[in-house]
Amino acid sequence: MSWQGSISDLMCLAHEVAHAVQLQLSAGSFMPPVARETCAFLGELALIDWARRTQTDLASKLLRVWREENQRYFGDDCALLRAAQADPESAYTYRMNYPLARAAAVVMWRARGDLQRLFKAGSEAIAHLPLSRIADLAGQSQNYLPPLPLPDTDQPAIDAYRALGAMALLDIDFSKGESELRIEDYYATLLNHLQNRTAFVALDEVRRPVGYATWRKAAGDNTVTLTRQAAPFGDHLLLQKALERHLGQESDVHAQHPRSARQEQVAW
Ligand SMILES: [Zn+2]
Repeated sequence: MSWQGSISDLMCLAHEVAHAVQLQLSAGSFMPPVARETCAFLGELALIDWARRTQTDLASKLLRVWREENQRYFGDDCALLRAAQADPESAYTYRMNYPLARAAAVVMWRARGDLQRLFKAGSEAIAHLPLSRIADLAGQSQNYLPPLPLPDTDQPAIDAYRALGAMALLDIDFSKGESELRIEDYYATLLNHLQNRTAFVALDEVRRPVGYATWRKAAGDNTVTLTRQAAPFGDHLLLQKALERHLGQESDVHAQHPRSARQEQVAW
């Protein structure tokens, strides 16, 4: 590469180093291009993640490069793939591998899967790509909500109001009680939950809100009583799993179902 010291050069270096690591770990077994590029994009995400924890200024610059490059991978490169589907005689170009590899890297990074297994897999690597999960995500067209930006540690109030906005949008689709409240009561309740840190918005792999929960915590013990769980697009399991991680599995959690016969049920 022609190193000029720019941020995109740094990203390029992370990409190529990840290729080198994959070549070493696969020990001579030839990895198909889509999987190979997934490894390289994972290298870029690892660099961004490291910067987010150690140098937030660098992280935001790297994120800008990542988003700029998305324009090409999901723009022109996707168009190449689409054109090839319409014309079986069209010539193969290497760039056709990038859109799927980019999506696979994001899904695998967010899922915190076993990345070393992919890097070592060589010619078997395609089996480790989350292709069915990508297809599910692409097919989840009922969730029209836009992805939330990454949290901004300098401006926690903006993140809190974004969370509040996401909860309101989820409630518009979910109804079941909240949509009948007066706006000022609804706002006061959620604001109170945010201030007490007893509200949580679950996001999918591409950071779209899929559901939210609020709870009450008993003083002095680990008992958490869920007061609301809203997942309007059918992601109840995803919400529950994310909530479990958020609250810690040692909490004793009960769910309140105001409209069911049994008023209180153990959630997990
Ligand atoms: Zn590459």
